[in-house]
Amino acid sequence: MSYQYDLIAIGGGSGGVAATRRAAKHGARCAVVEYDRYGGTCVNRGCVPKKIMWYGAHIADTLTNAKGYSFDVTQNGFNWEQLVTDRENYIKRLNGIYEKNLTKENVDMLTGHGSLVDAHTVQVGDKTYTAERILLAPGGQPTVPSIDGAELGITSDGFFELQQQPKKVAVVGAGYIAVELAGMLHSLGSDVSLVIRKEHFLREFDDIVSSTLTETMQKDGISIINNTSINSLTGSAGNITINASNSKDNSENQYGPFDCVIWAIGREPLSGPMNLQNAGVETDSRGYVPTDKWQTTNVSNIFAIGDVTGREQLTPVAIAAGRRLAERLYAGMTDRHLNYDNIASVVFSHPPIGAVGLTESKARELYGDTIKCYQATFTPMYHAFTTHPQKTAMKLVVQGEEEKVVGIHMIGDGVDEMLQGFAVAVKMGATKKDFDDTVAIHPTSSEELVTLV
Ligand code: FAD
Ligand code: NDP
Repeated sequence: MSYQYDLIAIGGGSGGVAATRRAAKHGARCAVVEYDRYGGTCVNRGCVPKKIMWYGAHIADTLTNAKGYSFDVTQNGFNWEQLVTDRENYIKRLNGIYEKNLTKENVDMLTGHGSLVDAHTVQVGDKTYTAERILLAPGGQPTVPSIDGAELGITSDGFFELQQQPKKVAVVGAGYIAVELAGMLHSLGSDVSLVIRKEHFLREFDDIVSSTLTETMQKDGISIINNTSINSLTGSAGNITINASNSKDNSENQYGPFDCVIWAIGREPLSGPMNLQNAGVETDSRGYVPTDKWQTTNVSNIFAIGDVTGREQLTPVAIAAGRRLAERLYAGMTDRHLNYDNIASVVFSHPPIGAVGLTESKARELYGDTIKCYQATFTPMYHAFTTHPQKTAMKLVVQGEEEKVVGIHMIGDGVDEMLQGFAVAVKMGATKKDFDDTVAIHPTSSEELVTLV
């Protein structure tokens, strides 16, 4: 049987583009199906616009801190609309680069909504295309709760469409997006409340980072409304009231009015619209597409990567899985696959968080008393002079007699850039002694990690 393509990817985001480009480089005839702008969530409404806003917020913090270093600085305002315009122009350039790279590698771009007709046929609009193999890489979308008035709120997608800075904002949720948006909006001057349904946010992270961030946020003036489940939103756009129940004392409370409420309560996979049932591809109860370690679904010629698989929802993960898959299928690297252990990630909160490996509580669950932790909390030298000093905290989780480092958890200025190199050490199986044997770089915050006692 001959097919029009060796590989068709549904989704032109981080994973789909990386996989088809790498496959094409090794001689495969590839196409990618996309109905939106190339680059996916990361480029258009995720990592990239988020990091630009984070840099803006970081500059706002620096201006505030400048006084402590004897600068006489007057802040004459901040033009949100201009930053948004410049940000979107930058993203348009990235979209162009994505398309140019696909063209350069001879990957066909099929514009429209992709769905499966059968295990070898993809429908795009009123056309069908056949392929020996199909890759599912549609990513996901933000979750909106099914409660009265939910539509008065926006999601992270809506946040990136805001043309004006919201003055009084409630961010609802307890994960990456919630703390990132809350931090940057606060630094840029908005009055921010973070509404969480449990006692703490970032519950999947080590206690040292979530407790330090809670302390910092509260000191900085972000209002944390915890143990709070939202029953409905009432009011009108720009004048929204949150009606909620407190799970601790069962009280019913109202908060607001807010000019903006942002849902940041997780994301869901975009598997449904691909008509996977036509090819017999199975999904789990939440719509994720399970795969084996080779990224193969339950149908042997159909693969899935990225957010739709429900694994670590990070751009470099989607890219790495896609490239490895392409190299296994088309470059003869028969054992090439992504190992999902010890994937590092950074939360771009204020200050940022970096984590790799096991949290202390997870490590103790797995290894009991063979776990030991080394940690430090300190005020970095930079903040010795600032009016809003923020603490840095670091923890090494080590296991067994040889004290193998199985987790690193940090929060503080600069940890976002610090973590990558330490993640290499963890991946290589470094021990506490290896850390101790490494001479420190002084004066830095990172030296604390190699001098912990
Ligand atoms: P996506 O990048 O979402 O790409 C999927 C593409 O498929 C989209 O372009 C979509 O339009 C298209 N598509 C979907 N269905 C179809 C269909 N049926 N037919 C045709 N096209 C279709 N990750 C990080 O590593 N660092 C960060 O700092 C970071 N920040 C983030 C901030 C936010 C606000 C969000 C929402 C996410 C962030 N992420 C971050 C996560 C990251 O964006 C995702 O993990 C990554 O984009 C997943 O890549 P993917 O290829 O699986 O899907
Ligand atoms: P997350 O899964 O990180 O967090 C969402 C949290 O919201 C849940 O953990 C839960 O916490 C809480 N929640 C869930 N449902 C509700 C509800 N109905 N009401 C109130 N709270 C609720 O999702 P995000 O949307 O923040 O981000 C999605 C993914 O995108 C992340 O997991 C990450 O992989 C990726 N991302 C990565 C970034 C980075 O690398 N810097 C930045 C942004 C996103 P609890 O159970 O404690 O209430």
